Amino acid sequence: MPFRRNRRVGLVFSHRYLTHNAGPYLIGYRDSFPFSEPVPHLSSPAIAGRTKQLLDFYNLSDVMLNIEPEMIGDGTLRLYHTAEYIQHVVALSATGGDTGTGAPMGQHGEPIARLSVGGVSSTEEAVMRGAVRHVYALVRPPGHHAMSDRGMGFCIYGNVAIAARHAQRRHGAERVAIVDWDVHHGNGTQDAFYADPSVLFVSIHQDNLFPVGWGALDQIGEEAGAGTTINIPLPAGSGNPTYFAALEQIVFPAIRKFAPDLILISAGQDASVMDPLGRMSLTTAAYRSMTRQFRDLADEVCGGRLVIAQEGGYSEIYAPYCGAAIGEGLCEGLDGLNPVEEPYGPRAESMPASRHIGLDAQQALDDARAAHSRYWKL
Ligand SMILES: [Zn+2]
Repeated sequence: MPFRRNRRVGLVFSHRYLTHNAGPYLIGYRDSFPFSEPVPHLSSPAIAGRTKQLLDFYNLSDVMLNIEPEMIGDGTLRLYHTAEYIQHVVALSATGGDTGTGAPMGQHGEPIARLSVGGVSSTEEAVMRGAVRHVYALVRPPGHHAMSDRGMGFCIYGNVAIAARHAQRRHGAERVAIVDWDVHHGNGTQDAFYADPSVLFVSIHQDNLFPVGWGALDQIGEEAGAGTTINIPLPAGSGNPTYFAALEQIVFPAIRKFAPDLILISAGQDASVMDPLGRMSLTTAAYRSMTRQFRDLADEVCGGRLVIAQEGGYSEIYAPYCGAAIGEGLCEGLDGLNPVEEPYGPRAESMPASRHIGLDAQQALDDARAAHSRYWKL
């Protein structure tokens, strides 16, 4: 055995996740596009499968502790969802169908969605109990768009929202920080904690992409939770340096002041340069570096307790490399790893968005900093 299994970093994956079937891709979520071949859904099992293959290929899964996802009960789902919605999804599982607006599942799909929640809450439990310090939960279906009473945007149950509540109710976490770097806004998670000062929700996303109307600068939380929602909408085309600046200037100072007991990341690889559902320009280097920076921040502020939960990411070519780079960021410093390659090669670093912050992106960063300074003295 050439590689020392390291108990600091864990990985959740189940082949059952690859059986979540979102069916054909429907234009506008309504009807099949007429007079053409059906198109497979963009939320494809191939992407999670290839990500796992790359984690294996680069020896990353060898050094990560395997954590089995737990099949959770209704009580855990009820930490966020209504009883009526859970009953609706369970009943719909007999035939398959749309759990809300654009969140389809195949026949017998409900237990897989439940296992996705269990994957994230199992990692949260492993981290809170100290079995591992940092975990990558490579789950599907994703969760951050799911509302308490309906599925939305490929998401059936709110994996990360439930894990945050689970950490608070079952494992004594007082404050939880959630950072959502999926290219789309994490509307479900924001909604879950909008009036709750014990959960800091931060979303970095493409401005007003999906869902329309969510994630604007002035959505800062309400009542006792005013200030503990931080939205950082960025213009299309923002690349690595813009994201790094957002972390350094806004996200990290706020998290240091908030002093969480746990950091959860809603990780979407759909901010990548090749994604069909986003127009950002992140490369594998960004995913590796952001992961490493959050790992270091978690070491600094909360005993290393960091859970990275899979959300979106729709390039069958590129997203798996970004996922492998996340694994590499968590495992950096361990022996026996093969460096994860960049599909674009050296060209990735010479693209304009990789080299500097555009004027519109700089303006967006300045605006976000100004909007949130009142609460966080940025
Ligand atoms: Zn997304």
